[in-house]
Formats: sequence, structure tokens, C-alpha cells
Amino acid sequence: MKAIRQSPIGCDGTDQLRTLLALHAIALGSLTQGLCMLDAEYRIALFNRRYAEVYKIPPKRVRVGMPVREILDQIAERADSCDKTREYIWKRYRSHLARRRPFVRHHRLSDGTVVVARFQPINGGGWLSVSENAASHRHGEDRLRTTMERLDEVFQNTSHGLCLFDANERLIFCNEQYLSIYGFDRNKIQAGIEYRNILSHAATLDHFSGLSAEELYERCVNALQNREMAKYQVQLSNGRVIEKIVRPLADGSWIAEHREVTVEKRHEEALHERNLLLDATLEHMAHGLCAFDRDLRVIVVNRRYLDMYGLSVDHAKPGTALIDLMRASIARGIHSPGISAEEMFVDFKRRLIERKEPVLYRQLSDGRIIAVRHQPMTNGGWVGTYEDITEQRTAEQNIVRIARHDSLTGLPNRLVFRERMAQGLARVQANAELMAVICIDLDNFKLINDSLGHPIGDKLLCSVAERLNTAIRECDTIARIGGDEFAILQFVSNRSAAEALAARLLLKTEEPVVIEGQEINAACSVGIAVAPSDGTDSDHLMQCADLALYAAKADGRNTFRCFEHEMEARVQARRALEIDMRRALTSGEFDLAYQPVVTAGGGELAGMEALVRWTHPERGPLAPAEFIRIAEETGLIVPLGEWVLRNACTEAARWPDPIKVAVNLSPIQFRNPGLVSSVVQALASAHLSARRLELEVTEAVLLQSHPSVLEILHQLRALGVGICIDDFGTGYSSLSYLRRFPFDKIKIDRSFIADADREQNVEPIIRAIAGLGAALGMATTAEGVETAEQLEIVRRAGCNEVQGYLISRPCPISQLPDLIARWRGRAAAAA
Ligand code: C2E
Ligand code: CA
Ligand code: CA
Repeated sequence: MKAIRQSPIGCDGTDQLRTLLALHAIALGSLTQGLCMLDAEYRIALFNRRYAEVYKIPPKRVRVGMPVREILDQIAERADSCDKTREYIWKRYRSHLARRRPFVRHHRLSDGTVVVARFQPINGGGWLSVSENAASHRHGEDRLRTTMERLDEVFQNTSHGLCLFDANERLIFCNEQYLSIYGFDRNKIQAGIEYRNILSHAATLDHFSGLSAEELYERCVNALQNREMAKYQVQLSNGRVIEKIVRPLADGSWIAEHREVTVEKRHEEALHERNLLLDATLEHMAHGLCAFDRDLRVIVVNRRYLDMYGLSVDHAKPGTALIDLMRASIARGIHSPGISAEEMFVDFKRRLIERKEPVLYRQLSDGRIIAVRHQPMTNGGWVGTYEDITEQRTAEQNIVRIARHDSLTGLPNRLVFRERMAQGLARVQANAELMAVICIDLDNFKLINDSLGHPIGDKLLCSVAERLNTAIRECDTIARIGGDEFAILQFVSNRSAAEALAARLLLKTEEPVVIEGQEINAACSVGIAVAPSDGTDSDHLMQCADLALYAAKADGRNTFRCFEHEMEARVQARRALEIDMRRALTSGEFDLAYQPVVTAGGGELAGMEALVRWTHPERGPLAPAEFIRIAEETGLIVPLGEWVLRNACTEAARWPDPIKVAVNLSPIQFRNPGLVSSVVQALASAHLSARRLELEVTEAVLLQSHPSVLEILHQLRALGVGICIDDFGTGYSSLSYLRRFPFDKIKIDRSFIADADREQNVEPIIRAIAGLGAALGMATTAEGVETAEQLEIVRRAGCNEVQGYLISRPCPISQLPDLIARWRGRAAAAA
């Protein structure tokens, strides 16, 4: 499409010609003198009504094309002149005319009146004659002269070429400019020459390149026949362009105006070219464009603009008021509903003109965002460009989203959470409101992730995120702040409202999730802290919620805890314990207790499990549950484990063969590259046979992604050391571990044994494990046997060995000699 442009108002410079025509009309119509124009051959080219009247000739007897001599004859007739006189008069006339100087003649008519005829030569060989009664002659002479002079002046002074033709297509006169425009030979272009001959003359000069002489002639004649003004351009062979205007006059004569328009034409062409270029630029612009004037009316728009606002070319014609454009696009449903064109217009004007906002953004009903920029023009209007920035915005928003959201669950991330918390705290301080910070942690995520694989772990996280999201309100904030950690911010009326939310979260997450056919328990633990009572600072509040979360975990998981100030005290205590433990390692505060493991059938002492004890100088004896975890977290488990290993081996070397010693290994110890060599050294320095050492590992050891774990286990086993899987049955896929490593022994977790005499379905499980062990060539030990009944059950189930309070509590070294002696005695008695 073409750009729609307002065309500049044309100015064809016809003023001079108009003056000329006016004079012409005055001369012919309203003059009191008779006026007659002769061509070069002294024929009448033009005359007015008064001309015939002055000579008292009937009007019908004067015609264009009539030789002037016939007029003279008629005048002479009226004066009763004889032929001779007529001949004489004509002779005088001819000599005057031939001289081509102004002259005056007097004609006495038959009624005695005298007519004065003044002759004035005109360019191109013709004459202008003005006749009047001698009585009024004096009076009119000046006026006539002025008229004549003015007429001539206009002819000669106009910048245009002018020529006048009579009804017989003969040139009456032409001005200098006409001749010079075409470079005509003055001697050839004389009054009386036929138009056709002028054209032939031009053709001999090889003037016309565009239109042929014939075509030019046709055009002119057509205009004359139609009695209409005709305007056309003639291209000359030298490149000049002449504009010709033909104006037919009432009596069949015509005036032609010739004007050189080469420069204008060149400008016009350049302009046209520039406009084409502008059109092309406008059309190929990626942006919409709408220029409007100071009255906010359209000057030009491009297609892109129309498309953007759902408008057609007709809607945006030049001159259309901007408000009408707004009306049209609102009617098409382009803008968001609810805004009227008037409101939009007022808003637009205010922002553009008053506030001079450089960019206005428009959100359209289909979601597109248009950036509108306005550039003022010198004439008071504006050029508006309209850029569809929807994609750009989306990309920007995506970047912001990515920076502020967790890519897996789509929830806000820690950054956002911290921001909202800061905002929330400000609100807490300003309005005395309560804000709960709730930390949620999946209870078994690491286990699930490691055993079922990361893709399932990811799906589980998404599902938990979704469930948590449904438990909160729109105004609350939920974020994923760590691997399996989520957090929620909620303004609450009181603490119990936060607890109610925590309970709801637990309910939502308790239900097992089914992912790829696997039923997964995604239970969580929840910690709550409430501002301002628990803290008024983001970091501190987070710590409080974390502490509450640890407490929930410590309290058996799948539960929630509110922050209590004692929790902080406990953390302090833990830190103190860590310091104490470092000291304890060097100052010999650790000890080992040994718990017998006996054969299920005969009651033989098969071995003893070494269990670490710590006698704290202030706190007294501490159970492993109170410090093993800290030792693991701080890495102190490595030196502690080595100490246990050395001492247990040394102690066991004193026992009669084949009584074995069992030592527990923490998963952390497997990260230490020196594990195998420390086992070798412990055995060597104690002079203990490797087959008398058993190492107990839990599933957690195999869960470690560390690739060398299995390798280390194989190396240890290659030493001849027995490898036991401890606490069997508590993990997720205990059975799968049996496949991964050929354990020597399975220790069935004591939770099964504790339930065995109360729950009927536990015995079959114990039997199944014992059977499986037997099939795989692994021995089974039942831990935590406390009652005779339990002992009976595990025996029946086929376990090979038993351990538990029923047999003996863990004993200090001092009691071991007696203990061993007693069991040997028992065995001997049995034998
Ligand atoms: P574990 O390896 O399962 O050790 C057996 C635990 O069960 C011991 O608790 C023992 O006292 C207890 N026990 C034995 N018979 C019975 C019974 O009939 N009823 C009940 N209720 N409990 C019984 P302890 O000594 O408190 O040790 C707890 C855990 O600490 C151990 O569980 C083990 O995982 C860890 N542990 C102990 N010593 C060491 C060590 O030297 N190194 C490492 N890494 N962990 C150790
Ligand atoms: Ca153990
Ligand atoms: Ca155990």
C-alpha cells in the first residue's frame, strides 16, 4: 500500500494569465472604443462589439479572418467613396502597415462623423487597432493608451510564453518569451502563421521528443473542440519540459501559455522519488508510525500502525482526528475493556503534551504491549512510533522470572522470599501485625533421591510444591529456598493460626504421592517462627524457624514445632559439646562397652559389639545418640572411629578365639581415604586375625553417591573382615542393597523385634529376611531381643544369632572376663 499523504496545495502561477484575460475581456466587451486585432496578413483576428458600432457597420458584416481591406471598403462605401478613393485609402494603409510603426487614420463617415483609428503594431507581425469617434477621441485617448500599454506590458513582462491564435488557428501574436522558450526563428513565426506550421517548424528544429507534432496538434484541437482548458507537458529533445495551457476563447480563438517547468519537474520527480522512498521506508518499518498535526489530526500512517490497532486505510485518512482513530480501535476491541475513547484521548493528551512523557505503554486486550514514542515536529505536530514490545517484555519478564524463581517448581526462590520477608517485617513494625515464617523440609528426600533417582526426586518436589501451594492463600508467600526446603510467609492473627497452617501442611503432604507407579511417602517436618515475638530481623527469624524445624525432625519427623527460646540454648549446648568432644578425644573420656551376640540355637557367645561411651566431666555418661551425630557433622567421627577400631581390636585380641568383635562404621568414615589402612593397622597392631573382626554398616553407607564405597567394602572384605548390614529393614530398599554387596551378615533392626511379640505379621517378615539371608549365604542376627517370647520368635523364624538386653546389656571392659567365662561355662555345660 501507499502511505497516505496530504498533498500540498498546488500553485500553478496563473495569476498573470488571469490579469491578461481580464484585460482582454475589458478590451473586447466594455471598452467605449472599437478594438480590432489584425494578424500579420492584415486579417481580423479579434474584434469587439464596439468596433462595428463605431463604423456603423452591421455586426454581421464583420468576421474573424476577414481581410481588413474589406472593412475599409465597407467604411468607404458608407462615405460614398469611389473605387479610386478606396484604392488610394488601401494604398496608404498598406504603406503604414508595412512600416510597422504606430499610425493614426481618420475616417469620415457618410453622416459626417469622424472616426479616429489608432494602429499599434504587435509582436509577431500583427496589429492592434482602436477606433472611436473623433468627438470623444481626446477624452478617451489616454485611457486607450493605458489599456494598450498595459495589455502589451502584461504580454511582454510575463515570464510565460503567451500566444494568441484566431479561430482559423492562425497566430495573432506571441510574446518574446514564447519565441525564446522554443528557440523559434522570429522571421518564421509571424502573425498569421498557422498553428500546424509552427509545429512543423518546431519539428524541423527537432524539438519534440515525447509527443509528436501531430499529437500536440490533436491535443490542442481537442481542447478547442471541447471548449475546455487543457494542460499538458511537452518534453523537448534537449530535456527541457514545457507546460502548456490552452484556453479556448468564446469566438473560437485561443490563448496558449507556455511555461518552462524543467526545474519544477525535476524537483517534483525528486520529491516523488523521495516520497517513494519514504513510502517504502514507512511500509518496511518494523514499527507502526502515525504522524499527526498540532490539532491531533492524522498526516500519515503506515500499514504496520493500522495492523497494530486493527484499523483499515479508510479509518486513518489524512485529516482524521486522533480521537476518531481511538474510537475505531476501541470499537474493534483492541484496547482493554472499560476505557472510553474520550478518556483515552484526555489521558493521551495529558501525558503527551502536559507531562511530555517520552514513552507511553499500551497494554492491548490480547496481551500485546505497545511502546508509543512521540517526536515533536517543528510545525507543532508529532511523529509517533509504535513498537510491539510484547516479546521483549516477555523475555525480560522471563529473565526476571528465572532470576527470581525456582526453575523446577516455578515457585519464588530464596531471593524473593528474603525480599518479601523484609517487606513483611516493615509491615509488622508499622502495623503491629504478626508474621509467621514457616520452614518445611521433606523428611526422607535424600533417601528417595538417591534410591529412586533424581527424575523421580524432581517430580516429588514439584508435587510437594503444588500441595503446599494449595494450602495457602493468595496473599501468602511460598518459596523453595533449598533442595528439599520450602518456606512460607503468612500474616496471622495469633500463633495458633500459624500452627493450624502447619498442621494443614502436614495433612496435605502426608498422603503418599504416586510417581511413575511408585508410591512415595513425602512427609515433611515443619518449623514455625513468628515475628515480632521470636525476632524482628530476617536472618534471626530464619534461624528460629530452622531451629524449630530441627526440633520437629528430632521429635520423630512428620510433625511441626514452634520456635522456643530453649532451642537456641540447645544449639549453644551442641556447640559446647563439639568443643568438649575435641578435648575428650585426647583426654581419654571415651570408653567402649561390649554387648554379647550369641548363637540363637545353642547359646554360644559368638561375638561382642563395641559401643562407644563418653563420660563427660560435667554431664556424666552420654549415650551415642547424644554425640555421634555431632561427631559426624563435625568430622570428629573419623578420629573417634579410628580410636574405637584400635581399642576394640586390642580388646578382642585378649578374647578366646573365635569370639569376634563387631565395630560400627559411620558413612562419614567411608569418605576418608585412609579407612582401609586404618583397619589393617588396627588388626596388625592388635595381632588380631581379620576373620575375628566384623564391620557394621547401615544402608546410609551404600546410599552415599561416593563411587568408591563399594570398592572399599570389597577391599575390607578381601582382608577377611566380615561385613554386616546393620539396622536392616528400616531403609527404603534394603533388599536392593543385598544385591549390590555380598554381606556376611544381616542384623535385623530392633524395631521389628520389639514389635514381634505384639504384632502377628512381623514374625513372617523376620522369617522372610532370615530365609533370604540363608538363600544368599548370609547369617542373620536379631537385635534388641528383650523378652523370652521375642527370643522364641526369632529362633522360630530362623535367625542365626541374637543380641539384646535379654542376653546382656552392653558391659564395661571390667566385666568382660567374667562374662566370657560365664558363657564358656554355659557352652561347656550344654555340651
Ligand atoms: P546399633 O549399632 O544398632 O547398636 C545397638 C544399640 O542398641 C546400642 O545402643 C545398644 O545399647 C542398644 N541395645 C542393645 N540391645 C538392646 C535391647 O534389648 N533393647 C534396646 N532398647 N536397646 C538395645 P547404643 O550403645 O546407645 O548405641 C546406639 C547407636 O550408636 C548404635 O546403634 C550405633 O549406631 C551407634 N554407635 C555406637 N557406638 C558406635 C561407634 O563406635 N561408632 C559408630 N559409628 N556408631 C556407634
Ligand atoms: Ca551396630
Ligand atoms: Ca543396630
